[in-house]
Amino acid sequence: MKTKTLILQPTKENIALCAEELRNGGLVAFPTETVYALGAVATNAVAVEKVFEVKGRPSDKPLIVAVARKSDIDNVVKAVPQKARVLIDKFMPGALTLVMKKAECIPSVVTACGDSVAVRIPNNEIALKLIELSDSPVVVPSANTSEKASPTLAEHVKDDLEGKIRYILDGGASEIGIESTIVDVRCDPPVILRVGGVTVEQIESAIGHVETKREDVKLSGYMPSAELMFAAYCDGMERNITAKYDEITARGKSAVICCLDNNVGLYNGRTVMTVGKDYTEYAHNLFALLRKADAEHFDAVIAEGVNPSGIGSSLIARLIKLSGGYII
Ligand code: AMP
Ligand code: MG
Repeated sequence: MKTKTLILQPTKENIALCAEELRNGGLVAFPTETVYALGAVATNAVAVEKVFEVKGRPSDKPLIVAVARKSDIDNVVKAVPQKARVLIDKFMPGALTLVMKKAECIPSVVTACGDSVAVRIPNNEIALKLIELSDSPVVVPSANTSEKASPTLAEHVKDDLEGKIRYILDGGASEIGIESTIVDVRCDPPVILRVGGVTVEQIESAIGHVETKREDVKLSGYMPSAELMFAAYCDGMERNITAKYDEITARGKSAVICCLDNNVGLYNGRTVMTVGKDYTEYAHNLFALLRKADAEHFDAVIAEGVNPSGIGSSLIARLIKLSGGYII
């Protein structure tokens, strides 16, 4: 029989019900400040296998593990290096994930057979309460199927996972809207594996120089069904965007420009979707806008580029990945 998927308000009783579902080896979707997560008890290999199955996620892509308290980090890793302590004190709970040597209790299915584990503490009261009541660390991949954008609303999760899980806790829109920054702290200087909610500048101000690993532009994971491209950030960027838009629409294809609120006037009545008033709102809205463009069957999405500093670098990293590196 197909499971019925319920969206639940985050009352005390409902959070307790979801924690029980987790303790019984079930999966629960819940809000975090980055995107909605699909949780399972991280020490239960069978439950974690279900996460891979439900998401259609390749088994060689390890999962991030979330804990509710700083002191719980010591239970899932072998040792916490000095610089990691500084980052934990400064940025956790928050959109920062640290890669450390894994403790025995974390099964190899979580880490794609590797001996490291990626750990974070979500900055969301509902998530923290749920994890605390589940009495365990919880895996927290995004609660979408692999071909869809990361969900930033409970309804997005329902669209993707209807019939596959019993409960979705509704915490409203995810505050940040893009994923966490991942730092490998097993080496010194530490290495940034993915830029996200916490910026490189913030990390370097806490622990000094860090290396940055270039993210692979692999055609894997979610790609919008519209052809996504984004403009290099420069003076007169709007001229490149309008030229591209006109070229595409002249071929009889539909296109939409994603731009900051203040820039709408630059596009002279061409079809636009606004991303918000600043880069923080752009990050917050990006995945929801791509879902909307997919639902409205646009052939092409042309996104404005951004100044590559602070949250702007995290946005650019997402745009490069989502567009397969298609820059105009
Ligand atoms: P997602 O769940 O889609 O946000 O993806 C989690 C990200 O964390 C992926 O890019 C993984 O490669 C990365 N990750 C998870 N665990 C580890 C680990 N032990 N070492 C390095 N990266 C990891
Ligand atoms: Mg994801």
